[in-house]
Amino acid sequence: MLHKNLGVNEMGHLTIAGADTVELAKEYGTPLMVMDEERIRRNIRIYKDAMERYFGKGSYPLIASKAFSCKYIYRVASEEKIGIDLVSSGELYTAVSAGFDVSNSFLHGNNKTDADIEYALECGVGHFVVDNMTELDRIDDMAREHGAVQPILLRLTPGIDPHTHAAITTGKVDSKFGIAIETGQADEAVKYALSKKNIRLDGFHCHIGSQIFDIKPFCDAARLMIKYMVSLRDGIGYEADILNLGGGIGVKYIESQPEVDYAAFIEKMAEYINAEVASSGIKRPVIIMEPGRSIVADSCLTLYTVGGTKEIPGFKNYVSIDGGMPDNPRYALYQSDYTVCLASRMNEKADFVCTVAGRCCESGDLIQENVALPKPVRGDILAVLVTGAYNYSMASNYNRIPRPAVVAVKDNSSFTVIKRETFEDLVRNDV
Ligand SMILES: *Cc1c(COP(=O)(O)O)cnc(C)c1O
Repeated sequence: MLHKNLGVNEMGHLTIAGADTVELAKEYGTPLMVMDEERIRRNIRIYKDAMERYFGKGSYPLIASKAFSCKYIYRVASEEKIGIDLVSSGELYTAVSAGFDVSNSFLHGNNKTDADIEYALECGVGHFVVDNMTELDRIDDMAREHGAVQPILLRLTPGIDPHTHAAITTGKVDSKFGIAIETGQADEAVKYALSKKNIRLDGFHCHIGSQIFDIKPFCDAARLMIKYMVSLRDGIGYEADILNLGGGIGVKYIESQPEVDYAAFIEKMAEYINAEVASSGIKRPVIIMEPGRSIVADSCLTLYTVGGTKEIPGFKNYVSIDGGMPDNPRYALYQSDYTVCLASRMNEKADFVCTVAGRCCESGDLIQENVALPKPVRGDILAVLVTGAYNYSMASNYNRIPRPAVVAVKDNSSFTVIKRETFEDLVRNDV
């Protein structure tokens, strides 16, 4: 199977962490997202251990909230003692509600509103990752009103294009995120930040993109950031304590993609980065990374009930499912790859080539095309694998479809971590 936590049991049913997915679908209904808690913990520990070992004590990962923000994830993050990154007051509220200690959090966002800044100051968010000059001013003013000195990082764009999908590339000079080094604007921002009394500049952040399998773009970005840190030391005598390299390491969604050994990936990155730091002579910064996808994606799958098939002779075949773009908009957004299987009949010959279509009133509501399955019939359970990242967190109520339930499996039992939305939930705010 695609990942080690998946299998097929004696009934020919797909399993995750040993649990029968067809039984789970029967018990909880569909669409249903199933998370393997041990897998999330394992992924966190791989990052945590490798970062401490290879970058040195003090270096650690944050889990990127935007991949899957819910109380349960923050409780797991809290128990595993890692930090989090946040992009909105909503994510911050969720983390606080889960009892997460947000002094160990970093607040991102290219447009933090006054309300966001106020709420984050009240909650005691550890670091703001500042995106632009206007925001610097606002944070300084508002921190002064709180009688606080707010630690920040500056988000810089090192000018790296990792050649993934344009919508998930973020490190280029013309990005909407961050401040460019190349244009001299970063220099201005650093000097400005250092002149502010209610801001403490602790270092720098960059994030170059997502679903990247190659270590080169990460090393290139780190090299440019270190080079920039050297220029600041030499120019104005400023030395940063923290270098946050963002997230973005790839995940295996389909057989043809590589299985990333995250510990080895970090070891290789660290070898390169540690050597760059040593030869530059700058103070060794604490390294932070912000994996989202590579922590949560492969811990999860989504189960649907098949409604039926539609064969259009000479053209194509469709299989329709009881979910779609409201719970997983990624194919509609970026033609993302997914592995699809017929969870209820895993051992049968997969000779029916089809497009998996959602139930929305929208031709683009597809989950995947050119999928080979045993010909599904109404009532079969269909599984889409590796859906932990950017599925639930991007879910909508399009066509007034309630969001699915999320259950976790752990030690041979299952429990709800997010309840299925009800029709009452859908009209909750309608006046
Ligand atoms: C999206 C994002 C991440 C997480 O990226 P993954 O590809 O999910 O690892 C981390 N940091 C920032 C700033 C991001 O925008």
